[in-house]
Amino acid sequence: MIEPWRFCAEKIRLERTFLLSELDSRVDEYAHFGSMNDSVTLVLQGQIDEHHQHWIHLHLTGTVSPQCQRCLMPVSINLDEKTRILLCENEEQAEQIDLEDDDVEIVGLQETIDIRVWVEDLIITALPMAPCHEQCGDEDLTAQYKNQKDNPFAVLENL
Ligand SMILES: [Zn+2]
Repeated sequence: MIEPWRFCAEKIRLERTFLLSELDSRVDEYAHFGSMNDSVTLVLQGQIDEHHQHWIHLHLTGTVSPQCQRCLMPVSINLDEKTRILLCENEEQAEQIDLEDDDVEIVGLQETIDIRVWVEDLIITALPMAPCHEQCGDEDLTAQYKNQKDNPFAVLENL
């Protein structure tokens, strides 16, 4: 939980890591993850800009493994999602600002926010609608190929 207005006023930077198992089941229902022990990290940075608007910048990173739509095995997806949220005290204030709805959060001055909801939203936004391997069943081969590239002698050994 954070106090968003104070968070911006004091330009606080916060980093929090969440296991998928700590998030709401709507995330897992969206994608069916291979492992719920994978974690994601959210970095938040508060800011007040030159127009006295309160922004919270969000950056979500991590690797998760939703189920492949073809072979049903997990497929690794690297998350790297950035967004920013503008705080508004009420609807009128929000309407005056010409921004996409997703970027505006209406929060009372005394309210606190559970940042987990933002983590969940960012994961759902970042994941492809139908995650798939480039070539199903080939993930081991890809890994092997990469090892060979790193070590030229591995290729010789296979000749
Ligand atoms: Zn697959």
